Amino acid sequence: MRDKKAVFLDRDGTIVVHEPYLSSPDQLKLLPYAAEGLRLFQKMGYFVFIITNQSGIARGFFDEERLLLIHDKLLTMLQKEGITVNGIYYCPHHTEGVVEQYKVACNCRKPKPKMILDAANKYHVDLSQSLMIGDAAVDMQAGKNAGCICVLVKSSPSDTSDELSKSADYVVQDLREAAGIFGVM
Ligand SMILES: [Mg+2]
Ligand SMILES: [Zn+2]
Repeated sequence: MRDKKAVFLDRDGTIVVHEPYLSSPDQLKLLPYAAEGLRLFQKMGYFVFIITNQSGIARGFFDEERLLLIHDKLLTMLQKEGITVNGIYYCPHHTEGVVEQYKVACNCRKPKPKMILDAANKYHVDLSQSLMIGDAAVDMQAGKNAGCICVLVKSSPSDTSDELSKSADYVVQDLREAAGIFGVM
């Protein structure tokens, strides 16, 4: 039976500060209130999954081994804040990549919902009660494609793309605000 709730979160610009093609664990910086928000979701009984496109691998900027080091560090940082991430799903592919093995039109890169669906299947998640939270159009589309409630994190006030906001069910400034909305559900 699918009766569990989950939050599916984009990584860059949603949990950590967006660094283009972040390639070293030292570059990881949690966004304001990200840890607090995740802690609240976990307390409310949501599984926590990170769903991230990492085409830097296909583009040859870093390899999968390096990405795993980055994710180990991120998990440790979050663990210190009392948060256990239930899974990290990433897509290393891109059709314009330079690394042959990853230069494919895959079926996992957001806005495709596959990474979300894989996590949901494994953990018996009811997608209609679950959230996709991210800062980009592909996150909102992936969430919609998976049948989730979509929450846009708009950390910078200068980012006023109405088109993007309209694609979301909710628009928030940070993850704490997101958790506040769903605290009463
Ligand atoms: Mg992002
Ligand atoms: Zn992929």
